[in-house]
Amino acid sequence: MFSKSQMIRIAVLLFSLLLGSLIKPLRADEGMWLPVLLKQLNEPRMQAMGLKLKAEDIYSINKSSLKDAVVQFGRGCTGEIVSNQGLLITNHHCGYGQIQQHSSLENDYLKKGFWAKSHQEELPNAGLTVTFIIRMEDVSKQIMEGFDTVLTEASREQLVASRSLDLVRQAIDGTHYEAVVRPMYQGNAYYLFVMEVFRDIRLVGAPPASVGNYGGDTDNWSWPRHTGDFSVFRIYAGKDNKPADYSKDNVPFKPRHFFPVNTSGLKENDFTMVYGFPGRTNEYLSSYAVEQIVKHDNPLKVSLRAKRLEVMKPSMDANREVFIKYASKYSSVSNYHKKWAGETKGLLAADAIGKKQQFEAEFIRRIGADARFKTFDALLPKIKALHDTLSRFQPEADLMTEGVLTVEVIKLAQNLKELIEMKGAVFAEKMKTEQAQGWIKLLSSFKKDYYAPIDRQIMKNMLEVYMRQSVVKALPENLKQIAGNTDAIHISAVVDYMFETSILDNPEVLLGAIAMADSTLPGRLQTDPLAQCALFYNDYYRRVPGKEVQRLQTALAGLGRQYIEAQRLVFTERPFYPDANFTLRLAYGKAEGYSPSATVHYPWYTDAEGILEKYAGGNPDYELDSILAVKIRSKDFGAYADKSGKLRTCFIASNHTTGGNSGSPVLNGKGELVGVNFDRNWEGTMSDIFYDINQVRNISVDIRYVLFLIDKVAGAGHLVREMKLVR
Ligand code: ASP
Repeated sequence: MFSKSQMIRIAVLLFSLLLGSLIKPLRADEGMWLPVLLKQLNEPRMQAMGLKLKAEDIYSINKSSLKDAVVQFGRGCTGEIVSNQGLLITNHHCGYGQIQQHSSLENDYLKKGFWAKSHQEELPNAGLTVTFIIRMEDVSKQIMEGFDTVLTEASREQLVASRSLDLVRQAIDGTHYEAVVRPMYQGNAYYLFVMEVFRDIRLVGAPPASVGNYGGDTDNWSWPRHTGDFSVFRIYAGKDNKPADYSKDNVPFKPRHFFPVNTSGLKENDFTMVYGFPGRTNEYLSSYAVEQIVKHDNPLKVSLRAKRLEVMKPSMDANREVFIKYASKYSSVSNYHKKWAGETKGLLAADAIGKKQQFEAEFIRRIGADARFKTFDALLPKIKALHDTLSRFQPEADLMTEGVLTVEVIKLAQNLKELIEMKGAVFAEKMKTEQAQGWIKLLSSFKKDYYAPIDRQIMKNMLEVYMRQSVVKALPENLKQIAGNTDAIHISAVVDYMFETSILDNPEVLLGAIAMADSTLPGRLQTDPLAQCALFYNDYYRRVPGKEVQRLQTALAGLGRQYIEAQRLVFTERPFYPDANFTLRLAYGKAEGYSPSATVHYPWYTDAEGILEKYAGGNPDYELDSILAVKIRSKDFGAYADKSGKLRTCFIASNHTTGGNSGSPVLNGKGELVGVNFDRNWEGTMSDIFYDINQVRNISVDIRYVLFLIDKVAGAGHLVREMKLVR
């Protein structure tokens, strides 16, 4: 038996052991590190894990380095350069919008894939850009000078904006570069990024969606995987090798660096790194924020997205033309629908709220024990109070942004607001301006991908949920009148009436009226029930829930900045990496499997056999490409097989990644390309908020599978010959 004092001592010991494990120095492999700080923070650890390069080889402004072959693809993905003629690989899901735009019933590239046989056949993509980082620089001193005097959030923001503008101007003066200043650690540091942005990017090739999206929604965010998630583009430049608008005279861009492609592959536990532009993470949130996400925000957003998907799917399955129109929209809705569901599950399974609470208890204990930290006393209570208020407004805002405002005609009305509210008399004049050209462009692309029956049903669903779940239940006057001013509004009938009497859902009519400069158009839109309802909700959101949430978020951001600074000062034993914010980062880890539960272990790679096995199960998400099937059955993998004659398809590793890392190069210790990052495992979808090295894995397509698909399935071996293969 233990005495009472022994019991207390044991309890204290156990508690401190528990805390020790909680706040143990962050395993250095977690994190998305700033390339400029690798030398200072990560180089020894990376080399011990298997890196054969120096930090200077990864990022340098004095010589060409790996960073010169990594690009931000569009606004939300990453790509890598793989030849001296600007050839670029990214994910299939990153090029999906472009592939969809070039697809039609006659040229169904989504279904059949597309491969240009020569440079002339490569397809231009208006609006698509590719961005290189020329250099990055810590400008915290310049931005934050004098910030220790108390500033309001608004005046702080103003100062940051004006100082950033000055720095950007100086940085790009006399060059063709662009620049931005981005906050790190929620605004405790600032970095300047100087960039070169290319505007003539052409589609070179993509496998059929049955390969590029093999496994569809069923496999998205999960492991094991067999998805050939890649597409190929080429950067074109002017004759001076500088960015230029599209012109048939442009020439393939000559990069400062391109990745050699390694065809020997990785072994288990080999070092890997992912270099790219991770989008958003929130690793330093309070337990109150995580609780709100888990219990309220995610469940509501998931249910709203489910209601949209459930409308799109049957119409898309029934009609190929509708499928092509909605393919890209559907996948962007379904991607985060599934992601948020997985994130919630993972956060609960990992007891992220409980662990954050324990961390906060330790934070409070440490600041209580040290007079220097007295000023941090009020931080957590203030954060809690703001979350209490936010939890009332956030659902009202989400019911709009993830609900009513996702209706396509409601978005369209917002973009045509000025036209709708215009006086008939100025209409003719306006039609001669550039703005009118903008409306024509907008309506033409709206028309290309619009199917009113889907939109109508989504509007019914969204309004129904809104009227059921909102506390405010805001209703436009005209909708009340249409419904006969009764309380029991029959949403379905009202929406039917609006669509039947409106011209807003008919881009053809709108385009015709604009082309003929028909001055009755604004008047008609001003009495158009759908247009009026749309403007009401856009305006209501901006004035009420949107504004309130914005106000609270700004206040929380200010406190969040102080909280993260406090954490850095209080927990000096662990390194802190800044949250992802679409800036260039390097993550590193190793090729390794994981165990989601005591009885299950997932190996770290898959091979092509699994494609046939999944297909045999009969789930329509596993559609089998006929040429691929023949090659797999006859084991005709050419030089791309591994030593045992198998074709590896995908692999997982413990690199800390997020959305935006889609398409990132996965590199071995020598900086050679071994894979293309495209996803995370189901248990790992929580890693944007709570990282657990034992559960979180990034998923990549093995580069040998990519080469095999290009060469042996698509017959585009000339592209492989353009690359530099190494073993
Ligand atoms: N598949 C993910 C995405 O599309 C990438 C990731 O978040 O890991 O956003």
